[in-house]
Amino acid sequence: MRAHEAGALHGNDAAPTWLPYPSDVNTLIDGLWSRTTRRGADGAVEVGGVDVRRIAEEVGTPAFVLDEDDFRHRARRFRDAFAEAFRPHAGSDVYYAGKAFLCGAVARWVEEDGLGLDVCTGGELAVALRAGFPPARIALHGNNKSDAEVRRALEAGVGRLVVDSLDEIDQVDRIAADLGLRAAVMLRVTTGVEAHTHEFIATAHEDQKFGLSLTGGAAFEAVRRVLEAPHLDLVGLHSHIGSQIFDTGGFEVAARRVLDLVAQVRDELGHTIAHLDLGGGFGVMYNTQHTPATPEALASGIAGIVEKQCHELELEVPHVAFEPGRAIAGPSTQTLYTVGTVKDVRLGGPHHRVYVSVDGGMSDNVRTALYDADYSCLLSGRVSSEPPEVVRVVGKHCESGDIVVKDEYLPADTRRGDLLSVPVTGAYCYSLASNYNHVPRPPVIAVKGGEIRTLIRRETEDDLLGLDVG
Ligand SMILES: *Cc1c(COP(=O)(O)O)cnc(C)c1O
Repeated sequence: MRAHEAGALHGNDAAPTWLPYPSDVNTLIDGLWSRTTRRGADGAVEVGGVDVRRIAEEVGTPAFVLDEDDFRHRARRFRDAFAEAFRPHAGSDVYYAGKAFLCGAVARWVEEDGLGLDVCTGGELAVALRAGFPPARIALHGNNKSDAEVRRALEAGVGRLVVDSLDEIDQVDRIAADLGLRAAVMLRVTTGVEAHTHEFIATAHEDQKFGLSLTGGAAFEAVRRVLEAPHLDLVGLHSHIGSQIFDTGGFEVAARRVLDLVAQVRDELGHTIAHLDLGGGFGVMYNTQHTPATPEALASGIAGIVEKQCHELELEVPHVAFEPGRAIAGPSTQTLYTVGTVKDVRLGGPHHRVYVSVDGGMSDNVRTALYDADYSCLLSGRVSSEPPEVVRVVGKHCESGDIVVKDEYLPADTRRGDLLSVPVTGAYCYSLASNYNHVPRPPVIAVKGGEIRTLIRRETEDDLLGLDVG
């Protein structure tokens, strides 16, 4: 991760080496688009049986367009893949990590499709409870839960609280005592594995805010304290190593370290830890550089790792949980924008860069600025026979770092009024959206079987002005 001052992103007009010159600039690249996305009879893109031009007309732009079949298909595929891989043992659960994107309809789909739900604040918990999500299948995370959040979770009967610090052991025990109940908790441990994209670091020093460290004995001490706390039940151990991970290497090291603690607790405290939660972080394809493993390959790979480690430590294979967020929500959604200005900027010498401005930007997708993410895009309202040229897609905000897609080939006749779609914006885009520059947040619509259903309506100027009561 690096700072996002605009200067560092300026360069020449050459495409980055990873970006292939397209043989056809109209092609919907395999793996980038949700499963019902295709080109219709006259070449415009349709998704869920709905033409994007109709969406622009009825809903307006920008808009998040969520392919319901795609989201639910992925959720069920993760559920089934892990169920299959851990069937010979104590089984598995898949929790959808709601922080990627959560609203009432999504909570209900996740419930119907048999997954659990991870929330990490009182606000996310409120969405889940209002949607009628069964509290027993909810897990509450967070490194700084308020008393009100803990109380609400315990009163609602949330299935597990993931405890993140020694302070929180005392906090949850005290509130459980107050309510006259016992709290089921998992302990989040820090394994020293830090995974990000194609690489992981196994010896990262544990300089981060989450969890209790395995080295130095903090995690072991926390286990001892939970076992002694009169109002806590220790369900198991939890580890989450990062995000946008493409293989099982990081999980292998993390699982080994957590299972070593399980064995130590057995040997020194005589207690069996029967549940293990290995977190989420499975990667998705944002562009042609990314090659995510299938859920089936991930599940069987991780099952093999856990089996092997348990065998070596003479442990029963525990019940294992996973928490994919991005890998379920991300690929389900495309953001639909309308092109405004197109500007050809001379950069000195033969170099130039074409800036294509759209009617949203860093307020609906901050990941490019925040994480240096590389998205892709195409013109979705029509096809073009013009040659491809490299462009940079930018937003409408007062900030030169307001970039949506750093580099992409669009047809040379891209012009004002064209519809432009950015795929794989279903995770950490709406959920990180802001009102920067008093730009109202776009709606999220679900498309399926030729129907449009509004999940979250477009914010209005009145919504924004209504907060300003001074
Ligand atoms: C963010 C997070 C997840 C989900 O991560 P993805 O990269 O979206 O899969 C799962 N578990 C925990 C504890 C998290 O913080």
